Amino acid sequence: MKRLAILGSTGSIGQSTLSIVEQFPERYQVATLAAGRNIDEVFAQSVRWRPRLVSLATEELAAQLQARLHESGITGIEVVHGTAGTVVCSTRADVDFVVSAIVGVSGLEATHAAILAGKPVGLANKECMVAAGEILTAAARKHQVPILPIDSEHNAVHQCLRVGTHAEVKTIWLTASGGPFRQLPIDQFKSITPEQALKHPTWVMGRRITIDSATMLNKGLEVIEACRLFDVPPSQVRVTVHPQSTVHSMVEYIDGSILAQISVTDMRLPILYALAWPERPASSLTFDLAALRHLDFEQPDMERFPCLRLAFEAAAKGGTHCIALNAADEVAVEAFLERRIPFTGIADTIEKVLASTPEAHPATIAEVLAADREARLIAHALLA
Ligand code: MG
Repeated sequence: MKRLAILGSTGSIGQSTLSIVEQFPERYQVATLAAGRNIDEVFAQSVRWRPRLVSLATEELAAQLQARLHESGITGIEVVHGTAGTVVCSTRADVDFVVSAIVGVSGLEATHAAILAGKPVGLANKECMVAAGEILTAAARKHQVPILPIDSEHNAVHQCLRVGTHAEVKTIWLTASGGPFRQLPIDQFKSITPEQALKHPTWVMGRRITIDSATMLNKGLEVIEACRLFDVPPSQVRVTVHPQSTVHSMVEYIDGSILAQISVTDMRLPILYALAWPERPASSLTFDLAALRHLDFEQPDMERFPCLRLAFEAAAKGGTHCIALNAADEVAVEAFLERRIPFTGIADTIEKVLASTPEAHPATIAEVLAADREARLIAHALLA
């Protein structure tokens, strides 16, 4: 029995994780939940799953949840709050595995603390790896803690890497759907609306990641994530546009063999893989090979998707440039969704923030968070 801490329990990965727990009650149990502000959902989850501890964003929300649990006659659930609360969630003695799925850098400290406490981590939060990948992977090596990627591409790569050695890897190929604007004439990019950008062709996801898929910045973050997770330089990571999203990613070996992972586009599969690794439990998530007609692959257009170029440049510099790439994008996406800047303004903002970010390599989580704040300040000032 694995007892889980689910950081980001009310988000889409958190909910999919709970549906895996529901399907495999003999394997998994909910120990702790960390959520943000969705009090109704976290109350329902507490009633259903009876965790030992729940953490919410603020003291006020924690008090509200406590009152509702009390009114419903539910006892035995401790309620905490804030970053310290999330850290308790991920490090308690009764936690065997941590699912890190809080969007943004707010899950960073709890993920780092989990690794230091020796807890295996299923990582769905790519911002953690982008902002602090060097620190997290060094800690994981030191404490011999596995980090199992839940992001579908890295999960596919993790699977494909099981058949070869690190020295035998030539290229990691990340597949990208290309988003909704793969074929839109480039002169129309300026007038893309938030409504158009929020419609993703294959995956249903959160708002920021959907916009990031439309700009392909998401793929850029994944390039950086792949470098850190699999210990390869950016020159060994390539992106290929694959509109069917059937091949989730590939590994090319030095002998010329390319291994690909194919499965349904359902996040429950990478979650189950991460939770069960190194085992593979039987599941009902079958892929209909007979319905597969063709697989297309094409080169990404860096002119159409400048965010991808910026991400490769940041990956080569590492440190503060990766942090600033992520932070500036988050601020710029928010501005785009609020109609304060055009779609093309997202890449423009990131490029300007990167240009005024000094190159440095933070050695601690506190330094990472300081660099993150600094980049956000620059981005906000630019957009004011
Ligand atoms: Mg992905």
